[in-house]
This record gives sequence, structure tokens and C-alpha cells, in this order.
Amino acid sequence: MDERVGGPAVTGDRLGFDLITMGRIGADLYPLTTGVPLAEADTFGRFLGGSPANVAVAAARLGRRTAVVTRTGADPFGGYLRTELRRLGVDDRWVSEVRGLPTPLTFCEIFPPDRFPLYFYRVPKAPDLEIEAEELDLEAVRAARVFWMTGTGLSEEPSRSATLAALEARARARTTVFDLDWRPMLWREKPEAHYARALALATVAVGNQEECEIATGVSEPYAAARALLAAGVELAVVKRGPDGVLAVHRDGTVVDVPPVPVEVVNGLGAGDAFGGALCHGLLAGWDLERTVRFANAAGAIVATRLACSTAMPFPDEVEEVLGRAGGV
Ligand code: ADP
Repeated sequence: MDERVGGPAVTGDRLGFDLITMGRIGADLYPLTTGVPLAEADTFGRFLGGSPANVAVAAARLGRRTAVVTRTGADPFGGYLRTELRRLGVDDRWVSEVRGLPTPLTFCEIFPPDRFPLYFYRVPKAPDLEIEAEELDLEAVRAARVFWMTGTGLSEEPSRSATLAALEARARARTTVFDLDWRPMLWREKPEAHYARALALATVAVGNQEECEIATGVSEPYAAARALLAAGVELAVVKRGPDGVLAVHRDGTVVDVPPVPVEVVNGLGAGDAFGGALCHGLLAGWDLERTVRFANAAGAIVATRLACSTAMPFPDEVEEVLGRAGGV
């Protein structure tokens, strides 16, 4: 059992973050027995969850100074999430409480190798959709070396305007990642126009094939990557789950890497491990091939583990897998 927990100390200058993520957070309650329908599961593990929170944890594990901008309920699960963020090395100074709305819970079913249905309890509304533009520390958002937002943050107001305000503050001056994160059950209107607006303000787009199709109308990975570049970003990354990853840069660089073969326990969280590791590689200034191979391996590692946030790999674990896979 690996006893290590988090990243660098969660104190210090608000303008010195490597990565600030913004959006969804919640408590994940995952069945401790795999292959069991939720109706029959009776023991659960409790984990910090929500894609942007997990991405911040993943990058912290890799040694990055990270923070998340989000909101929870004023309840025990909200307190748990803040404590857990800090324990896992993520600064929680921009996590605030919303009175009257419960902290979201997420249940899942685990049917390896490729079926992991999610059940979101975000009613009547998730506190993370109550992020207000006026509350943002835009100076800090602008100063972060990488900023990461998600499609779900665009699904409702006031979160949508706040997310766009953060993107506008970045003004594409530094790495600004749009995680296409498409959760249809969380949308009550058509997403296309909102996705297009955010794509024009981001420098990197990351998504799986279904998410790329929502953002661009095409799902074939090369066509989707080209369409994302045409929509405004400099780097398009198409996650293909067990089929690996395609990354295309505006400068003409194309990286298409096969998956690292693993025995899948729970595919949830692989995308967030990938995301945190992608940020790490971009921050390190690695070439695109090394960055994508590293992120690909980080995603594969989390797919072999039941948990998501607490399962994010440390650098030596990723390097070991890369070494075995003959990586760069
Ligand atoms: P998301 O969870 O966002 O849909 P994916 O399922 O595509 O993302 O997973 C993200 C990345 O994690 C993949 O691109 C790949 O690098 C890695 N990964 C995911 N599932 C597997 C798997 N079964 N085998 C190997 N690598 C995987």
C-alpha cells in the first residue's frame, strides 16, 4: 500500500499556482464490490469526486501547485470535500459554501472492462453551478500557468457566465484548457453554442469521441481534432479510452499513441488522471509526444484502480509504466 498522499504544501501566494481548475465537485460513493448492480450494492467507499477536483488532485500528485474554484453545500459532505482537497494537496481557498443546497453525491456501477454508469444526485441544483463571476479572483485566474474548465460548468447560470468570465480574463495568453466533459443528464438546453463560445476562448481542448462530437459535430478522431483546431484551440486532444489518444497541434504535430495494456478495474477517473498529467507535461514544456504518452500511462494506471481521486499516480509510478511499455 502506497502511504504517500498529496502534493506540495497548500499555502502561499495566490498568484503562484501552476494550475487552477474550476467547476464540478462532489462526494463519490462507489460500491466496494465490482460487477454488482447499484440496487444490490450495500457497502460503499467515499471519495472526493468531480472532474475538475480530480484533475487538480492528479496534477498535485505529480508535484504541481494546484487550486480548485468551486462551491459545496454547507453540510458535512462539503466539509469532508474541503478537508480531502487539502489532504490530497489541493488548495481550497476558492471553495465556498452555498446555503440551502446539498453537496452533490455520485454513485456508480462498476462493470469492467468498459461499463461504468454514473448516477448523479445534484438536485435541486448543484452548488458548483452557483459559482458567481463577481466572486472570482480574476487576477489569480489570469496568473495561473494553466487554467482548466469543463463543459458541465457551462450547463447552467450563474456558473456559465462565471466560467466565460474566467476564460475572458485569461484572454488566451496562457494555457487554457477546455475539458469538453459532456454529461447530457446535467443539461436542460442545447450545448452547441455554449461549447463554441468557450472553444474560441481556450487554447487546448480535451475530450473523448462523444464529447468531441458534441463540440464539433464530428466523431472520427482526426476530423474531430481538425474541427477543434478550426474552432479556435491550438492543441486538440481526443481521448479514445481503450484505443489510446490522438493529439494534433496547430503547428502540424500529430501524436497518435496506442493504449497501455492494463486489466481494467474501474475506468472512471482515467480521464481526470489523463487531464492532470497532460497539464503536468504542458507545464514541464515536454514535447507533445512525451506529454501525451505520460498522460496516457497515468490514465491507464487509474483504470486499474477502484478509486479515482485517491488513485491518482505519483511520477515514479507513471515512469515505471512508461518504462515497461517502452515509452519515451
Ligand atoms: P474519459 O473518462 O474522459 O471518457 P477515457 O475513458 O478516454 O476518458 O480515458 C482517458 C484516458 O485514459 C485514455 O485516453 C487512455 O489514455 C487511458 N485509458 C482509459 N481507459 C483505458 C484502458 N481500458 N486501457 C488503457 N488506457 C486507458
